[in-house]
Amino acid sequence: MIDRATLETRIAALAGQISADYAGRQPLFVAILNGSFMFVAQLMKGISVACDVTFVRVASYQATESSGVVKEILGLTEDIRGRDVIIVEDIVDTGLTMFELCGQLATQKPNSLKIATMLFKPTALRADVSPSYVGFEIDNKFVLGYGLDYDGLGRNLAAIYVLQQDAPTETTGGN
Ligand code: 5GP
Repeated sequence: MIDRATLETRIAALAGQISADYAGRQPLFVAILNGSFMFVAQLMKGISVACDVTFVRVASYQATESSGVVKEILGLTEDIRGRDVIIVEDIVDTGLTMFELCGQLATQKPNSLKIATMLFKPTALRADVSPSYVGFEIDNKFVLGYGLDYDGLGRNLAAIYVLQQDAPTETTGGN
């Protein structure tokens, strides 16, 4: 779907834009594992302002029947109060993960909170989130590569591919 050169050119442009927007500040990048590892590595190479980068995982669990699936942020040791936080995500699909995550991070009173995502599926969006930095808007198809997996595989691919399978109905990628 997106070849390596196209991806990396676009990621470099995003890094340039973020660097300009955060001139004179010291943003904290919070990358969501596992899927964002390749995107964040490429992005960081183009960031020219002083910055911090940290990595978290998001665990989903069913709290109760009524409250549904809850996302828990694991591994955030940094104090984000007063910081300019940029969440780095591989893909925003329904947006539910980012919505919950932003809600939880906001309670810690960062100075600002933005989302940078490599891929965005606008037609799949079901939550009130709007990523500030988007690599590519894509159709509502299941993709893999460049950190994104299908059943654990494909993260090493240096381009984005569309999964071709008999009618994939569910997102089976992990974070
Ligand atoms: P959301 O909460 O926005 O629906 O989904 C976020 C997570 O679902 C992503 O971080 C990713 O792990 C997974 N996901 C959503 N769409 C895809 C996709 O097309 N491919 C893969 N591999 N994972 C996806």
